[in-house]
Amino acid sequence: MSTTALPSYEDATARYEPVIGLETHVELGTNTKMFCGCPTEFGAEPNTQVCPVCLALPGALPVANRQGIEATIRIGLALNCDIASWCRMARKNYFYPDMPKNFQTSQYDEPLCTDGYVDVEIDGETVRIGIERVHLEEDTGKTLHVGGATGRIHGATESLVDYNRAGIPLVEIVTKPVPGIGAKAPEVARAYVTELRDIIRSLGVSDVRMEQGSLRCDVNTSLNKPGEEWGTRTETKNVNSLRSVERAVRSEIIRQAGILDDGGKIVQETRHFQEDTGDTRPGRSKETATDYRYFPEPDLVPIAPDPAWVAELKAALPERPSAKRARLREEWGISELDMQSVANAGAVELIEETIAAGASPAGARKWWMGELARRANETGVELAEVGATPAQVAQLQALVDDGKLNDKLARTVLEGVVAGEGDPAQVMAARGLEVVSDTGALQTAVDEAIAANPDIAAKIRDGKVAAAGALVGAVMKTTRGQADAKTVRDLILARLS
Ligand SMILES: [Zn+2]
Repeated sequence: MSTTALPSYEDATARYEPVIGLETHVELGTNTKMFCGCPTEFGAEPNTQVCPVCLALPGALPVANRQGIEATIRIGLALNCDIASWCRMARKNYFYPDMPKNFQTSQYDEPLCTDGYVDVEIDGETVRIGIERVHLEEDTGKTLHVGGATGRIHGATESLVDYNRAGIPLVEIVTKPVPGIGAKAPEVARAYVTELRDIIRSLGVSDVRMEQGSLRCDVNTSLNKPGEEWGTRTETKNVNSLRSVERAVRSEIIRQAGILDDGGKIVQETRHFQEDTGDTRPGRSKETATDYRYFPEPDLVPIAPDPAWVAELKAALPERPSAKRARLREEWGISELDMQSVANAGAVELIEETIAAGASPAGARKWWMGELARRANETGVELAEVGATPAQVAQLQALVDDGKLNDKLARTVLEGVVAGEGDPAQVMAARGLEVVSDTGALQTAVDEAIAANPDIAAKIRDGKVAAAGALVGAVMKTTRGQADAKTVRDLILARLS
């Protein structure tokens, strides 16, 4: 290895052209596994969701899960693919301790869906990502290395296998190589995975949670000099968040540019993304298709979806997320940038439901993108699991609109809602947080504030209306924040005009 310093990202992309490709695995949310009737619930005791088929006991025969095939076709249709009228599953042969069959039931030269595309927007420009194939396969079990410090096989004293995941349907989505995007390659990769996640979520076939592994992404990267052939690509695995997708492409571009600058050669290999440092480390050298000795699975009948059924599935696809965002942006009257933040925060549906429950778009967005987003960030949970429902947020906003809560009190009420104290009205009653709207009580507080601050009162009498703020503050203090600031201000000005 050379010891010369790595080039900067700007320098690397000025001299080399990256080509990226993405392979994404989506775990389907079917009730049962792909080829047997075992349940698929996440987090069960190890090896409690297994049977002779997924443990590959002698003589056990698989039966395909219709729900899994339907979900794969719907994903293919949503990604603008052609759906095969006839195709077969294939055996991908390899020994892995978490695969008791010693092969994975997958698809090889006859994928269920081919030749589609996804459009993503980068800085107002549309980039079309070609989809090479969408195919159906099964997941492996999970190996756990224990007794070591790192959880890796090195240093472990024993390895345990959990077969609960073995046989859960997986859909693999492979893009065509994406050239010609230059320095935007990391952003394009991230935008693609984000769009893919949103499309699949809209279909309701998977919860597509990267942190739980139901959406897993491998990123291929290569570099070439302008006008030259594409370079050798590496495949980066372990990319567990949208942010990591972007970082992995970026760091791989810099690493490869450094090697090429020194006259070195890129080795075709699998690399692992390091969440802590943001760079990639080498894994195994990459197998080629011939290593797997694929052959058609003899235990399963071919899949031949009825064209009428496929047409039905296509007609019933939900609104495309990008089209939905454009429509909502219009309805809510917000900028593209604001809509992007809403989407990135996972708040589109939450705001939509809050509006459906009666809140104004501005009111709904304010709570979800403000107080609740902040709280979700702090506690590290998804916005949807922050502890408040759209109905509760709509109720909170209604209390503000009716003048029963001011902004400050509403935030306190929301705290109570998130803490599980009940609906906003219940929290308000239990904590005695209603705005004081009794003008008699407020008038007394106003008169006291005027008497206690004669200098300020004199200024207001002289026409310096802006000075009223100090008196409003004094009244808010004596009423413990439970007064409506605008009413207080009106009372002060009426008294002193
Ligand atoms: Zn089973």
